Amino acid sequence: MAEIIDGKAVASRIKEEVKACADRFEKLKGRKVGLAVVKAGDDPASAIYVRNKIKACEACNISSSSYYLDGNVTQLELTELIDALNADSNIDGILVQLPLPKHIDERAVLSRISPEKDADGFHVVNAGKLFLGEKTKFVACTPCGIIELIKSTGVDIRGKHAVVVGRSNIVGKPIAMLLLSNDATVTVCHSRTKDLAEITRTADILVAAVGKKHLITADMVKAGSIVIDVGMNRDESGLYGDVDFDGVKQVAGYITPVPGGVGPMTIAMLLRNTVNGALDE
Ligand code: NDP
Repeated sequence: MAEIIDGKAVASRIKEEVKACADRFEKLKGRKVGLAVVKAGDDPASAIYVRNKIKACEACNISSSSYYLDGNVTQLELTELIDALNADSNIDGILVQLPLPKHIDERAVLSRISPEKDADGFHVVNAGKLFLGEKTKFVACTPCGIIELIKSTGVDIRGKHAVVVGRSNIVGKPIAMLLLSNDATVTVCHSRTKDLAEITRTADILVAAVGKKHLITADMVKAGSIVIDVGMNRDESGLYGDVDFDGVKQVAGYITPVPGGVGPMTIAMLLRNTVNGALDE
């Protein structure tokens, strides 16, 4: 039976460290670390994420300012807001909650954020540094949180076969790069991968970032492996991961639950990025 990786507990340790840094910053600079949160449109899941992020800021002595824009916002209006936040010396991090309304060029908005205030780590400069193995203060939050969760098991990542299912720019690709920089041997799977189960069964570390309820079943998992479930799939009956938790926990060595696994870590890493950005002024 797998050990459950308690994302809430790991996140709460990280948030304590973040708060200590934020307190130190306030003493030193006479103002609080500041995070600007931008949301456009009325996606209900986004509203929950934003609310949770703002609550977490309060708990960590980070001042948050929210900008809730109408779903009809124009590209120019968003760009002007980002420019103003880039120029605001009280703002250390800028978070644009995705998804943006369909008519907005998301990539252009994310790349308008100063790479020095890129709390989510999605800017092309920071993503590029991650891919080149260069040091950067801003690494994508969910992948960064996943590495912390894997490390919390005490299992050495070096030399392990890590299989990542999903190749998005915000989870799949950056987690593959982070695992590689931690000396794992990495295989990335996606919707065109043939014989997915055959590959996942060879994984010492399996990261599922797909967005399909219970895609990963017990027969797809190697005994004793670490299984990280990034999926957040909502339907009328609740919130589900990409991993069939009840079945897979019989086989895996370690497993993250949904909720309470990767989700809390994403928020903790956002706060850590913001404080790191502020401290390097
Ligand atoms: P995307 O939709 O951007 O990417 C999904 C990936 O899964 C794609 O690469 C796609 O392949 C691949 N895929 C789809 N179907 C299959 C399949 N049957 N077999 C193998 N691969 C498949 O999703 P995200 O990366 O943005 O998010 C993934 C999940 O993680 C979602 O549930 C999301 O809500 C959740 N999430 C959770 C976070 C957290 O904090 N817990 C943060 C971010 C996301 P292809 O490229 O070929 O289309």
